[in-house]
Amino acid sequence: MDEESVDVFCPNCNIEVASRVICRGHGGFSSSAVNPIDEVDAEYHGDTYFVSLCRRCSTPFLVRQSLYGVPGEFETVTNEVVLYPNASRLPADGLPDPTRRAYEQALRCYSAASYEACALMCRRCLEALCKSFSVVGKSLNMKIDALYAADIIDKRLTQWAHGVRAIGNEAAHDTDAELSKDDARDAIDFTEALLMYVFALNARFAEFQRRRSAGGEL
Ligand SMILES: [Zn+2]
Repeated sequence: MDEESVDVFCPNCNIEVASRVICRGHGGFSSSAVNPIDEVDAEYHGDTYFVSLCRRCSTPFLVRQSLYGVPGEFETVTNEVVLYPNASRLPADGLPDPTRRAYEQALRCYSAASYEACALMCRRCLEALCKSFSVVGKSLNMKIDALYAADIIDKRLTQWAHGVRAIGNEAAHDTDAELSKDDARDAIDFTEALLMYVFALNARFAEFQRRRSAGGEL
C-alpha cells in the first residue's frame, strides 16, 4: 500500500514536496442535523490534522484540512492550511502597506527560487521603511545612516540594514552575480528582523508600557 502523502511547500528544500504523513487526527466536527437520527444525511464540516515529514530533508509539517460533506454521499476538502512551519514570522499589524507589500513580494520571489528578485525586494523593504519615517538622503546608504542618527535603529540593526542593502545592490547592478539560496534567505531573515524591531516590537512595547502604567505598575 502507498504511504499517505500531503503536498506542501518545504521552506528548507524550497520546493513543493509530497510529504509523508506519519500521524493524523480529527479536530472539530459540526453537523447541520437538528437531532442524531438526521445526521446520516445532513451536511457536516470537520477538520483533520496531519503531521507529516518532507521526504527529502525530514522537515516536519502540521497541516489542517477542512472537510465538507454528506455521510455516504460525498466528502470534499474545502481548505488546507500549513500551520507549521509558518511561511511568515512577521506579524502584519503595525506594518505600513508599502513595506508589507515589498516584504510579501520578497517571500514570493524566494518561494519561486528567484533569489536576485528576492534580494531586490528586501532592498525595497528598506527603502519603504526609510520613507515611512520620512528620513532623507541621496542614497539608501545615507538614509540608513539617517535612521541610525534619528535613533530609530541601533548600531547592530544599522549593520544588518547595510548588509541587506549591499546584497540588494549586487542583485541590481552586478549582472554576473548569481545569488545563492542562502544569500536570499539571509536577506529575508535580516529584513524580517529589522521590520520586527522597528514596527512590531516597538508597537508592542508601547502597548506593554501603556498597560503597565494603567495598572499603576510603572
Ligand atoms: Zn524538505
